[in-house]
Formats: sequence, C-alpha cells, structure tokens
Amino acid sequence: MRDHSLSEREDSGSYNPIARVLVSRRRLAARAAQLGAQISADYAGQELHMVGILKGATIFMADLARALSIPATFDFMAISSYGAGSQSSGVVRFLKDLDEGIEGRHVLIVEDIVDTGLTLHYLRESLAARRPASLAVAVALDKSSRRQVAVPVEYVGFRIPDAFVVGYGLDYAGSFRNLPYVGILRPEVYGG
Ligand code: 5GP
Repeated sequence: MRDHSLSEREDSGSYNPIARVLVSRRRLAARAAQLGAQISADYAGQELHMVGILKGATIFMADLARALSIPATFDFMAISSYGAGSQSSGVVRFLKDLDEGIEGRHVLIVEDIVDTGLTLHYLRESLAARRPASLAVAVALDKSSRRQVAVPVEYVGFRIPDAFVVGYGLDYAGSFRNLPYVGILRPEVYGG
C-alpha cells in the first residue's frame, strides 16, 4: 500500500517515494500568479481560449486561470507520449480532441512539462493548422537540456534539471498527480 501522507518534509519516518522536493507549493503558487499577470497584460482587451492537455496540465491550468484578470474560456485535449514508464517513446498518441473549434481565437496551450519537445511540437502543428488568431504555450516546467526538437514556449514556470518529477499534475503510472509540490521520484520506484 502506497503512503499517501506525503508532506514536503523529507524525514517523515516511513518510506517516502519522493527523494527531494524540487519546487515547493509556495513557489508554484507565486509563479502561477506572476505568469497570470504577465499573460493578462500580453492579451489585454482580448479573450483567451485556454487549451489544457489532459491530464497533467489540470492543476497548473486551474492556478493559471484564476490568476488571469482577462476573460478566459477552457477546452481540453488528451494525447499520450509516455506509456506507464518514465521514458519517452517518441510516439504521440491522440486520445481526445477539442470540443470546440479554435479558428479566430487566441489560443493558449497549457501543458505540465516540456521535455524532448515532441509532444508540444505535435500539438503546435496540429492546432496551428486550425487557424487560431494566435497560438502560444504555457508550461509549468521545462527540462530544456532534454530537448530533441526546437519548439517555442512563450511562458515557462520553472526550468528544471533532467530528473523524473511528479506532483502538481504530473504522475507516475497514474499516481502522485495530487501532490501540491513538484518532487523527484526515487529512481527505484520506476526501476531506474
Ligand atoms: P515530451 O514530448 O516533451 O518529451 O514530453 C512531454 C510529456 O512527457 C509531458 O506532457 C509529460 O506527460 C511527460 N513527461 C516528461 N517528463 C516528465 C517527468 O519528469 N515526469 C512526468 N511525470 N512526466 C513527464
């Protein structure tokens, strides 16, 4: 049975699958507020159509959306680039399309993390083909050292080192998404 009483304390006694807290809850909240203010200024006088990428972006999107002072609408799409493991297969699977058209709208793709860039590259290309008025990307985390394809990312929460992280929406095999901080998972948890 997995220990779900994970706090930001690393000395909680029982086995903690999180090796280290990388970005605390407080820093995540402060950065989402900053990005929200910046995006509101950049899109002043316009309505923003936020496209969250399920499921990882849900927490960041909720924080970012509530930090906006401009009107915003939501839609979601689901794609999958990882299986149950921690290594990118390089294959992007398309699982759920948007509910609404985006032609003529100011679209902000909201994603949890950009790693190799393959997922965002695919998303940008496929959404750009639908002729939005503008298209930009906001990611909570950026592992820029791992990039395989150059992809523009207009709004970045935190640049992080190359480690497998969970929490703040990010999972390992479906778990840990609800951790309020970003933590580095112990490699033995995923057999690394
Ligand atoms: P990319 O296509 O840029 O290599 O990977 C993007 C996707 O890979 C993210 O949306 C996320 O689902 C997954 N991913 C990349 N790095 C990590 C990580 O450190 N932790 C978790 N949980 N997922 C990751």
